[in-house]
Amino acid sequence: MRRSLLGIRQLPLRDSYDAVIIGGGAQGLSLAYNLAKLGYSHIAVLDKAYLASGASGRNATLVRDAFATPEWIRLFHFSLQLWESISDELECNVLFAQRGVLSVAARDETIESFKRATRTHKEMGVQSRLLDGYEIRQVVPGIAGDIKGGLLNPPGGVARHDALVWGYAAAADRLGAEIHSGTEVVGIDMQDGEVAGVRTNRGNIRTRRVVNAAGGLAAEVARMAGVELPLEAVTLEKFVTDAVKPMLNVGIISVETRCSINQTSRGEFVAGSSEPSGMAGLRATYDFLKVSARKVTQVLPALAHLTVVRQWGGLIAVTPDHAPLVGEVAEAPGLFLNVGWGGYGFMGAPAAGKLLAPWLLRGERSGIIGPFDVARYKTGHLIPESMIPVHRSI
Ligand SMILES: Cc1cc2nc3c(=O)[nH]c(=O)nc-3n(C[C@H](O)[C@H](O)[C@H](O)COP(=O)(O)OP(=O)(O)OC[C@H]3O[C@@H](n4cnc5c(N)ncnc54)[C@H](O)[C@@H]3O)c2cc1C
Repeated sequence: MRRSLLGIRQLPLRDSYDAVIIGGGAQGLSLAYNLAKLGYSHIAVLDKAYLASGASGRNATLVRDAFATPEWIRLFHFSLQLWESISDELECNVLFAQRGVLSVAARDETIESFKRATRTHKEMGVQSRLLDGYEIRQVVPGIAGDIKGGLLNPPGGVARHDALVWGYAAAADRLGAEIHSGTEVVGIDMQDGEVAGVRTNRGNIRTRRVVNAAGGLAAEVARMAGVELPLEAVTLEKFVTDAVKPMLNVGIISVETRCSINQTSRGEFVAGSSEPSGMAGLRATYDFLKVSARKVTQVLPALAHLTVVRQWGGLIAVTPDHAPLVGEVAEAPGLFLNVGWGGYGFMGAPAAGKLLAPWLLRGERSGIIGPFDVARYKTGHLIPESMIPVHRSI
């Protein structure tokens, strides 16, 4: 049997599956792995390009659980716990380095919000610690003079983004799920109001269950089933500098300036503005570079001396409350969503796959992922979060 470089079986596309997952990113593949682990393996993951070609292979790789809203904390705390053993579980080293993630603040009101958040963290079992101006300089010696304090989330960290995707893909494949790259879904067939199949560039497939995990293109995919979602596709960019000696051992997030900074184990800085541009393309822009240079040097002035060697963009889909949209769409039975992850879908992938698999299979809806049901846009129970740098008013 032919196998890809990742060891994944190269199989012919069948004309029917129990479920089809659209999107071979971290979200689609985590779900495929978790479904197959529950014995539901007559499924196919279809990706129009190659695995991790979407935002899952283009992100800043930060993982954390120190948010402010209980629903967000619960979900990402569960995910971080899964991250801790994901390399063993997938038999693939995703290089998860728990070096800590530090949210920094120059304004008193931000520090007050960090104080409130730490109280919630304590109640919910999340490890976080407030740092004053002196302590923050011990952790990040070069931090800007006006930074007054921060909130350290010690179990947070960074991981190798495409390794997570490859690990899920190989593990799902071993359990019998089929993964088909180069397979674009161009239509979703509905019969009597329910999902009946998908049309692809390689032929039609009959299926009663379709999962939309199409990342930045999720709104377009939903429209194929006649469903309009509260999603906007936007571009997020980051840059990487040349390598220098180690000087930053935590990931930094600034919700005030809306940027992130971390130094890789090879010494490069991966950083930039976390404000999405509305252009919804993959082209890197000079505007991003200009704005990012100002923002990141405002937090870590020493970066002004480094050379940017590369920048890139990735497409993400954001909801008005910036929280993901999951679950079955009431007006299109058989259509499940795992979309709208914005700037947090890499860290959230382990939890989402694990919790959505029993929901899709047996209707078991856990209290951790339940609040993110797309139905919240009908009930009005939105879940806005304040401790996020990737934020767009839409
Ligand atoms: C610059 C940047 C920095 C980021 N930083 C972080 C971070 O530090 N931490 C974090 O947690 N998140 C971060 N994110 C967000 C994170 O990368 C995304 O939320 C996450 O990758 C979404 O995963 P996904 O599987 O839903 O989507 P994607 O990885 O985008 O995958 C979707 C896939 O669907 C496929 N597809 C689309 N349409 C079709 C179709 N019609 N037919 C077949 N296939 C289709 C695409 O080819 C793509 O491979 C960042 C994103 C960017 C761009």
